[in-house]
This record gives sequence, C-alpha cells and structure tokens, in this order.
Amino acid sequence: MDRAVITHAHADHAVAGSEAYLTAEPGVGLLRERMGVAAYIQGQPYGEPIDLNGVEVAFFPAGHILGSAQIRLEFKGEVWVVSGDYKLATDPTCEPFVPVPCDVFVTEATFAMPVFQWRRPQVIFGQIDEWWLRNQAAGRTSVLLADGLGMTQRLLAGLDAEMGPLFVQGAARRFLPAYAAAGVELPVTVPAAADAVRAAQGRGLVLAPPAMAEDAAWLASLGPVSTALVSGGMQVLGVRRRQRNVERGFVFSDHADWNGLMTAIQTSEARHVLVTHGQVEELVRWLRRQGLEADGIATEYAGEMGSEATDVEAGASNG
Ligand SMILES: [Zn+2]
Ligand SMILES: [Zn+2]
Repeated sequence: MDRAVITHAHADHAVAGSEAYLTAEPGVGLLRERMGVAAYIQGQPYGEPIDLNGVEVAFFPAGHILGSAQIRLEFKGEVWVVSGDYKLATDPTCEPFVPVPCDVFVTEATFAMPVFQWRRPQVIFGQIDEWWLRNQAAGRTSVLLADGLGMTQRLLAGLDAEMGPLFVQGAARRFLPAYAAAGVELPVTVPAAADAVRAAQGRGLVLAPPAMAEDAAWLASLGPVSTALVSGGMQVLGVRRRQRNVERGFVFSDHADWNGLMTAIQTSEARHVLVTHGQVEELVRWLRRQGLEADGIATEYAGEMGSEATDVEAGASNG
C-alpha cells in the first residue's frame, strides 16, 4: 500500500508495510513508537480536512486512546465515518469522542452484547485503590495487568498516586515518552526492576501487560504479590475462567460498552451502519431489528477480544 490512513496506534490497527502513514496529530508519537524511526508519518490536526485523490479526509477524536480518531471521508456529497475503536466514557489521557454526522457509519463491535455495561471510571479506580490498600496491609505488592497502550496510562491517571510507588513494566514503559511529549500529565513512575519492587515491601503497585501473568519466574522475582487483570472481558465468565493465574478482575475497558455503541450509532445519524471488529453478527442482527440498514464487513485484523469472542459466547450461555 502506498499510503495508510490510521485510526490509532494499537497493533491491530497500525500495521507495518506502507510507504506513508497519515494519522491524527496527537497520535504521531505513538505511531512512531510502533512503526520505528524510518517510517514516513504525517500528522493531521483534528477537524482539518485534507484532500486524498479527490476524497476529503478528516480526523475526529474517538476517545479510545491518545490520538485515536474516527476518520470522516467525503466524496461527491456522501459522507462515511470509520470509527476505528472508540469509547464515550471519560478519559483524561485523550480527547473525548465527538459524534460526527454521516451517511454511512463503520463501527467497531468489540463489546457489542447487552451484557457489557461498564461502571463509571471513578468507581473502578476506587475499587482498585481499595484492593491496593488491602494488599499493602498484607505486605503484598499489587500487580495490575492491563494493556500497555492506553489502559496503563488511563490507570496511572486515575489511581491514587499518593498511596505508594507506581512501577511500570518495560513493555508498557515504551509508550510513556509519547504521552509526555503530547502533554498528557501522568504521575511519576519507576521501572519495575525486581529489587526496586521488593525494596518497597509490598507498598508498590506494578503495572504490566496481561501476558506477564504467564511469567511465573518474573512474578516470583517480585516477592509476595497479589495479581489482578483489568479488562472489559472480565465481565464474562468464559474469559474469567481462562485467567487462572490471576486472583482478581476489574471490569474496565477503552472500548464502548453496549450503551456506548448504541449512543454512538444513534448520534452518527447514519442511514447505513457497517459493523466490524468483534461481535459483528450480534450487532448487525440487533440493528436490523431496530429497523436500521446494517451489514457486517470482514477484516483481516482481529480485534483486542480476538479469539476471546467464542469464549464470550460460551461464558454467556453458562450464565
Ligand atoms: Zn484499539
Ligand atoms: Zn481494535
């Protein structure tokens, strides 16, 4: 491909192999971190149109992670909006989602089942702080497993940094400089070196990507720990069951929940909704029942829930 137009820097949306990349200005640093120094990356301020082969292209905030965008495409008076991933909940680490009226809305469907209903972020931060406090009282380091790009930074912004040292494991640290460069204020963090974590004698909280739960040697090197996973999928039994190594789950996500998807689709005012990236059939069926024109579109790239989709189904039917 000559040029890729990128909604955001998550690995399933920003794929190497193009000559040039165009993305929303605040996301350039993250895309650079993902693609490497040699990639040709162009940033476009939110809301400012640019002409690509006769198509008017503009980026609008998607509220998903720093620099995430819905892409508005206008050609011969017809407007399409490609949402990428999005959420409507508050998040101080990125610009809030804005509804963009269009004829055709391409929506994600990661959590497009009515069972997915998120609580307010402040409630979740309170629960995590409480868990952290109890672990401190027991002399155990809190290991919080969350996606390294977006969720980690949102948690850093929301948790009570006064409670104790915040450690961030290497894979998540790589994105912190781009957040700082974009002017997102986050508390001071420390690399999660085993000796530093142990020296904090259970007062610290370590943020690490979910895959680190499988690394028994790494966990053991930290001394006594309590582990918890932060994920929207934790709401569903099938996903919880697979997380045997994790003691606790917090239901929290950088995607829209069911009501968020409904609101975004409604406010887009689209006459035709195209669904991709997640629970496609479920959402298409629901929208058609509401009298909307809706179709699924295939994607080469799996969503964040990816292979978890079948487990979601199994979990839901198990109760
Ligand atoms: Zn994403
Ligand atoms: Zn995605």
